[in-house]
Amino acid sequence: MNGRNKSPFEYQEQGVNWCPAQVDREILRLRALPYLALESWSITNRQLHVIGTLRHTQQETGRKECLRVRMEYPREYPWDIPSVFDQDKRFAPSANGHQYPDHKLCLSFPLRFEFPVGSENLATEVLQASLVWFDKRCIFERLGVWPGAAEEHGYVRPLRLLLREEAQRSRSLSASAWCEWIIAELVYPDSDKGCPCLSGRPFAHCHTQLLWLAILYQCSSNAMRDYERRAARKAA
Ligand SMILES: [Zn+2]
Repeated sequence: MNGRNKSPFEYQEQGVNWCPAQVDREILRLRALPYLALESWSITNRQLHVIGTLRHTQQETGRKECLRVRMEYPREYPWDIPSVFDQDKRFAPSANGHQYPDHKLCLSFPLRFEFPVGSENLATEVLQASLVWFDKRCIFERLGVWPGAAEEHGYVRPLRLLLREEAQRSRSLSASAWCEWIIAELVYPDSDKGCPCLSGRPFAHCHTQLLWLAILYQCSSNAMRDYERRAARKAA
């Protein structure tokens, strides 16, 4: 691999967060995984890309299945989640099959915090999720439906989930009631008003996170309603 003799300082100047020692550590970590046969790795566009085969024994049939994948580490790794692609384009991209048009696997909604962002185990967790995805996709291929619970696509539902979680975290019944009210009545939150936790402080200086999520939620639902209205008009 080229660029091996560069000092970490030179890498930093180029905006690369992968110094050779880090790459070595990461590759060692990936080689230790029992369910991955690591094939090759490279630095592409200053980012680490790895290619390997996920190996998996199907629970139902006991059949051994293999899927060749490419994992692309994002620039902000481990603060951003790596993308995993179906390298040989074995599966056809589809929303129901949880695969993007560029053959990227749809693993999780990032805002649900399912992955340990910031941890050095982030990539291995993402590969484990890919293995679960692969198992489900094989079932999808046979039955035509995604097994188990699948996340609805789009942002409104997960945002609603986060908003409710945030209200619960406030441990304030009035904040939870307020949250249900703005969800039900589609009310846009007013940051100038007092905080719904009834602390008497301005909303913007009290439960700030709740306020931001509520704003985000209303914006997304508006956008989604707009989109559906336009789609309905087009279909009519
Ligand atoms: Zn408050």
